Amino acid sequence: MSDCLFCKIVSGEIPATKVYEDETVLAFRDIAPQAPVHVLVIPKVHIPSAAAITQENSAVVAHCFEVIAQIAAAEGLDNGFRVVSNCGPHAGQTVSHLHFHVLGGRQLALEMA
Ligand code: AMP
Repeated sequence: MSDCLFCKIVSGEIPATKVYEDETVLAFRDIAPQAPVHVLVIPKVHIPSAAAITQENSAVVAHCFEVIAQIAAAEGLDNGFRVVSNCGPHAGQTVSHLHFHVLGGRQLALEMA
């Protein structure tokens, strides 16, 4: 998607602080961190949101979660962490490319909404 911010990070058109990259998944630090560790894990392929996950594209989503576990270990999040994916306007999704926020490094608030 030529006008997608995260596709531009995947292509290198926009810089990011990468913490992990392989053929199908990229992880980079959030530009406005909400916790001491705030990493975004994305599939390189453009999937607009969690609402667009299908049997055809879900393998990369599973791989995202393998990467999340690796990143959590590498970042020392031994006391736990949170994985969040905002989907659509009611959830406050601002970038229409599926991404998983990995938040940790301090005690997080318990509120879910
Ligand atoms: P969401 O609001 O759930 O769609 O999350 C989008 C996230 O992308 C926000 O936490 C932003 O701070 C983050 N973000 C926006 N632009 C960039 C960027 N250029 N590099 C890294 N993170 C970004």
